[in-house]
Amino acid sequence: MDVHNVEMVMSAVSPSQYPTDGRAEFALVGRSNVGKSSLTNTLINRKNFARTSGQPGKTQTLNFYDVEGQLYFVDVPGYGYAKVSKKKRESFGQMIETYISSRKQLRGVISLVDARHKPSEEDIMMYNWLAYYNIPVLLVATKADKIVRGKLNQSESIIKKAVDFDDENSDFQFFSSVTKSGKDEVWQWIEDRL
Ligand code: GDP
Repeated sequence: MDVHNVEMVMSAVSPSQYPTDGRAEFALVGRSNVGKSSLTNTLINRKNFARTSGQPGKTQTLNFYDVEGQLYFVDVPGYGYAKVSKKKRESFGQMIETYISSRKQLRGVISLVDARHKPSEEDIMMYNWLAYYNIPVLLVATKADKIVRGKLNQSESIIKKAVDFDDENSDFQFFSSVTKSGKDEVWQWIEDRL
């Protein structure tokens, strides 16, 4: 999709604030610092639209971005903040759970992991949890530019093995916001589900 118009329409803390126009939604999830803002900005051809997270203590909200009046990206707060209190972690865990498990408009989740590392416990939990709810998942391995070409297969195997990757419900894609590799494939995955 050639994106020209993106607007942040809502920072929602509860379901009553979610958009009501029924357009397709795609959620983006991942540990903070995994490259979620960079991926979002790359997909929508902006440099600094999605704010970079890494702001522990900030209010945790689901941010709805209207993309071309056609669909919404839903930016889910980055998990794995060391500095956020347990209580806060639990509360945004619940918000995410409510959204993902009950949202009819949700067509898929783009779940980000760092291509250079074995997925964390939280990455694995998130993936399995999405699988449990039968949500179509695009598992995106970010920062692929940091991996030499010859090691990409190995990285993919390590990631898939760690999460117990399910081919039936999920797809896998390397991505780099530096080289933009993977951008067209991620868009294709989204468009296939519109
Ligand atoms: P977020 O916290 O998940 O939104 O992560 P950001 O998008 O803010 O990225 C975290 C850090 O990783 C920043 O320093 C980015 O410049 C860097 N980064 C993000 N994506 C890539 C990528 O594809 N390649 C490289 N080399 N660095 C990246």
